[in-house]
Amino acid sequence: MTVSVVLFTSDLRLHDHPPLRAAVDGTDETVPLFVRDPAVDRAGFAAPNRLAFLADCLTDLDAGLRERGGRLVVRHGDTTAEVCAVVRRSDADEVHMAADHSAFARAREARLRHALEADGRRLYVHDAVTTVVPPGDVTPQGSDHFAVFTPYFRRWSGEPLRSPLAAPRTVRVPAGLRSGEPPSRASVAGVSEGLARGGETEGRRRLGAWLSRHADAYGTGHDDLAGDTTSRLSPYLHFGAVSATEAVHRARRRGGPGAEAFVRQLCWRDFHRQMLAARPRAATEDYRPRQDRWRRGEEAEADLRAWKEGRTGYPVVDAAMRQLAHEGWAHNRGRLLAASFLAKTLYLDWREGARHFLDLLVDGDVANNQLNWQWVAGTGADTRPHRVLNPVLQGKRYDPDGAYVRRWVPELAGLPGAAVHEPWKPKHRDRVAYDYPAPLVDLAEAAARFRRARGRE
Ligand code: FAD
Repeated sequence: MTVSVVLFTSDLRLHDHPPLRAAVDGTDETVPLFVRDPAVDRAGFAAPNRLAFLADCLTDLDAGLRERGGRLVVRHGDTTAEVCAVVRRSDADEVHMAADHSAFARAREARLRHALEADGRRLYVHDAVTTVVPPGDVTPQGSDHFAVFTPYFRRWSGEPLRSPLAAPRTVRVPAGLRSGEPPSRASVAGVSEGLARGGETEGRRRLGAWLSRHADAYGTGHDDLAGDTTSRLSPYLHFGAVSATEAVHRARRRGGPGAEAFVRQLCWRDFHRQMLAARPRAATEDYRPRQDRWRRGEEAEADLRAWKEGRTGYPVVDAAMRQLAHEGWAHNRGRLLAASFLAKTLYLDWREGARHFLDLLVDGDVANNQLNWQWVAGTGADTRPHRVLNPVLQGKRYDPDGAYVRRWVPELAGLPGAAVHEPWKPKHRDRVAYDYPAPLVDLAEAAARFRRARGRE
């Protein structure tokens, strides 16, 4: 009798799961294992919205395994210790897991490999499970990673992809293994009211529905704040409840400019991962230092608080921040405008904003969050690092009827059309009655401050 263990981490699915298929096809019995490791919380990765979504994903994974004759084994504790205990108890010869690329994940993998090998067992780490193209597979001449997106996308697009794998029909789990309860969503406090439901079943349903309803219009519609027709797949991709490789295959099969534009966005995930894999310190340090001396002190702290509360006096920024608080998710254009406002208009350290996003985002992810923040702050991969987005003009452009702002900033619900984007001025007496704050800063003065700080004046 041969036994294997599959360690699930950020790959909480049964479809298109190379480690699971290798384990199930290669041995008589398999232990599907998830370890709830307190080190993940200590490293600052846990947040209520992600814990609740994780709970949904684990419940769904367990249900899917039960339909196939198996179950999920859940352990609480140090990953290496728990995997080794399960391996010994089940007398498994091999452990399979997905490659992951953060410094945390790589250190975890190294510890596990060392412990398993010392015990005479083998660890198989499978590539292209959490990414489409593994970091390091495409590199420019003379460097270990791409620092500019477009040439990366060109190379990435030409890479051969493996075909998506079907979910295993049956999973035979050895008897007698102790398992803790998967965490339940109801046990998590502080969850955003409008948080989406997690799990592979829901993720696959969304992917299918979105491809048939919205993919064709994605090229033109993805920036429409009120339309809200992007895929909303980011949390499912973050937890691996949906396979990015399968999403690329299905979008390409559908074809057309909308589906291709969606594939391009999926490439951004891999782009950021290959940057972080090569430069792990970019999670906290400027990728391209600009000698910024971010504002500090009481006034800066008050501005940060107003930004977090969605009370900057710039309606589209406030709408994005309130959507983030309510759903644990915000539209990409909203994230861009809120982030640009913090880092460039208020000239506050991007790390403060990134921390707040990570506290709330259900898709909050070290590579995507920190490197998107760096991109917006002009310390990352943006080829136009000193541009400042004007929230009034951007609001009028991407929310031309003002519907997005009215949805999230009810104080302004009585204002018609695009007028909602105008910041309050003394002549707008009507807004005083709406209890909406006056703008924190004057945009022209703020832009001049930023240009000075970056030595552009
Ligand atoms: P769609 O438009 O449907 O795109 C499909 C998928 O492509 C997304 O689900 C996502 O996986 C990927 N994608 C799209 N845009 C980007 C991008 N700019 N960078 C990386 N991947 C992308 N995305 C996260 O997944 N986690 C984060 O923590 C995160 N933080 C962000 C912080 C800031 C300041 C900004 C500007 C963007 C951030 N993003 C993050 C990227 C992007 O906003 C979200 O991926 C997107 O809004 C998710 O919505 P969607 O699934 O409907 O995207």
